[in-house]
Amino acid sequence: MIAKVIVDVPAKQTDRPFDYKIPAALESVIKPGMRVVVPFGPRKLQGFVVEVQEKSAFTKLKEIVEPMDLAPVLNQELLSLGDWLTEETLSYKISAFQVMLPAALKAKYEKKIRRIAPLDHLPAKLQPLFQESDTILWNDAAPFFSILQREAANGSIEVIYEVKERVKKKKIKYLLPLLDKVALEQAKASLVVTAEKQRKIIDFFIEKHEPVQLREILSYFNVSTSTVKSLIKKGILQEKEMEVYRDPFEDRVFAKTKPFPLTKEQEKAISPIIATVEEERQQVFLLYGVTGSGKTEIYLQSIQRVLEKGKEAIVLVPEISLTPQMVKRFKGRFGDEVAVLHSGLSSGEKYDEWRRIERKEVKVVVGARSAIFAPFENLGIIIIDEEHETSYKQEDNPRYHARDVAIKRSQYYQCPVILGSATPTLETFARAQKGVYELLTLPNRMNNQSLPSVQIVDMREELRDGNRSMFSRALIEGLKERLEKKEQIVLFLNKRGHSSFVMCRDCGYVANCPNCDISLTYHRFSQQMKCHYCGYEASVPTRCPECNSEHIRYFGTGTQKVEEELGKILPEAKVIRMDVDTTSRKGAHERLLTEFEEGKADILLGTQMIAKGLDFPNITLVGVLSADTMLHLPDFRSSEKTFQLLTQVSGRAGRHELPGEVIIQTYTPEHYSIELAAEQNFDRFFKREMTVRKARQYPPYYYIALITVSHENVAMVASVTDKIAKFVQSKLSNEAHVLGPVVSPISRIKNRYRYQCLIKYKREPQLNNALKTILDHYQQDIASKGLQISIDVNPYIL
Ligand code: ADP
Ligand code: ZN
Ligand code: ZN
Repeated sequence: MIAKVIVDVPAKQTDRPFDYKIPAALESVIKPGMRVVVPFGPRKLQGFVVEVQEKSAFTKLKEIVEPMDLAPVLNQELLSLGDWLTEETLSYKISAFQVMLPAALKAKYEKKIRRIAPLDHLPAKLQPLFQESDTILWNDAAPFFSILQREAANGSIEVIYEVKERVKKKKIKYLLPLLDKVALEQAKASLVVTAEKQRKIIDFFIEKHEPVQLREILSYFNVSTSTVKSLIKKGILQEKEMEVYRDPFEDRVFAKTKPFPLTKEQEKAISPIIATVEEERQQVFLLYGVTGSGKTEIYLQSIQRVLEKGKEAIVLVPEISLTPQMVKRFKGRFGDEVAVLHSGLSSGEKYDEWRRIERKEVKVVVGARSAIFAPFENLGIIIIDEEHETSYKQEDNPRYHARDVAIKRSQYYQCPVILGSATPTLETFARAQKGVYELLTLPNRMNNQSLPSVQIVDMREELRDGNRSMFSRALIEGLKERLEKKEQIVLFLNKRGHSSFVMCRDCGYVANCPNCDISLTYHRFSQQMKCHYCGYEASVPTRCPECNSEHIRYFGTGTQKVEEELGKILPEAKVIRMDVDTTSRKGAHERLLTEFEEGKADILLGTQMIAKGLDFPNITLVGVLSADTMLHLPDFRSSEKTFQLLTQVSGRAGRHELPGEVIIQTYTPEHYSIELAAEQNFDRFFKREMTVRKARQYPPYYYIALITVSHENVAMVASVTDKIAKFVQSKLSNEAHVLGPVVSPISRIKNRYRYQCLIKYKREPQLNNALKTILDHYQQDIASKGLQISIDVNPYIL
């Protein structure tokens, strides 16, 4: 028998299956979807079996060394999903397979040297290395490289590669009865009179008759291991190591919750979903409703119906809103049926959760982006909450979007997909309007809570009135009032990306690219402003071109600075700061939130990570320090992202009895994304933004792709990127708009220079075909010169 294997070498030449002979002893073992160790050149590598067949067109096949799994880790559906991912994202098969599995299943390689000749035949310098063992680590022998080369050539040593598993299974010692209950009684009767403790242990196992942790027995009966050992020796009990799962929620109890009777509006929204579940029909729904409108309850009750049909559910939530509160809602409803996957878990914990899914021990997965690949085989629903979140797009190869994968999987299983959001992406909403997705709307908050009142503060006026601080008078008033009433405040500082922009503090003017409608990025060293789509460049003006003020400069403030300033104005306020610095430790995020919830601080100050999921009753004021930082990101989606973020943040206030207030500080209060976010008016925002996209030829009217080229030699990068830009243009004719090449926003990473160009085109399949030909055309350069070309189809971070 022959196995077709995709080997772990991500490169164009190896992006096809290689044939291997299956050793006779393994014929019944090796199956498609299994990981195997195979020889490849001088190395041994991990590979994925994609097919097993009788014959090969090749002769002299090498043999599979060993299987790495007892059962396939990728089922047929996931194997073909891998093929599809490869095509869609223009990546390699091996990367597509690996991205679907927990990182723990990615093999580690160890390079070693094995002695073949007798020890005393080796050069004297090498002999001490092999004293202890015939194989040594390559690194230990590295200083003798030239000697090693010579010895390898004459065959006295060989270099070997070992494939090692990353994952350590957690094992625990158990005791279990070897005899049935009657035999246990007999064994007990035959014990000597003094063996009182042994008798008690046997009694315990007569009652329980199942494996119990050794540790528990020892402490419960307060006995030493020798007592247990003698029972083992007598053949009454057996000691056994068993694999246990690391449960990240081990010491937590989740109170069981019951489904709410649905409101009329919820009923109306859920019934088409339930219908597709019943009819086993594929359909994508957009569940469009503000925060607090009861979307999650709809998810929960749809899942319940799916479980009743014996099927499974995947729920994706953005990483940052995978808060304990969210987990609690799913575990509370479905208990142990739920597995949770997020980046806070250790790789061992993630592997264990994955195994529970694979073994069908759970029916529901709640997780971040990669949970979309949960190895279920009878999927009944896929839910993507906050579908507009950019974190659903993977930024490295394979650059997939979880939404696309969800739709692909739902077609296979003929099941519904629910995309939920209060601020859907333009792409999604446009599809819902066209009827490609079915639009379900929840127009009101639960219990008709009113939306918080939103006040926009014009920071230009503050400056005019002599207030140079980063806090407006209105915000300071609001803070003081809340502190007196002992209510809580969330202060939100929007900081993202690496770039800063140039703005006039008097009139709010921001320097934009005349060609692309995105703000110019300030470069500190050259004192220049650049457009990173098209390369337009200008020097920083000393006076504002609009109002002639001198207060024009680059803009950006950090959370630490805000905390300092707060301390000066309100020394008595207790502040919890949440940003990348304070939350890098495991569990810090959760701990800080709990402290805030318990009222240990008055103010929660943070970046985007606090924008979502917070649902604390005592928050009555939300302050946005500068709505402009995101608005002026050099990204054609910046208005959309600003609208989404402001809407989200506003949703944090007044979720319960106390009414909420939101204060948004900005230098551009007249901008439609700020005005309409304050009104929470998505419909108008959508119409307005669509006209901008149409005029500027951006998605959803055009498809876009970002090509990034990198190499150590900057001149080569520049010239290759230029050639690629021309090449694509020639393939796509005049209808394509090729912007650039320009230096990437991050111009150098690990000493590799980066250039990029952006392509806009009306038709998706043609664009994809043209992109594929680039990789083929430049194959030679990639292979021989170490050039890297990455292509991001429909990029989210530009
Ligand atoms: P969303 O997901 O849109 O933010 P939720 O589902 O979290 O909305 O609902 C908001 C609040 O209303 C939650 O506290 C939830 O428990 C409650 N809720 C949802 N549906 C109902 C219902 N039918 N009856 C009573 N309370 C409900
Ligand atoms: Zn000005
Ligand atoms: Zn430009």
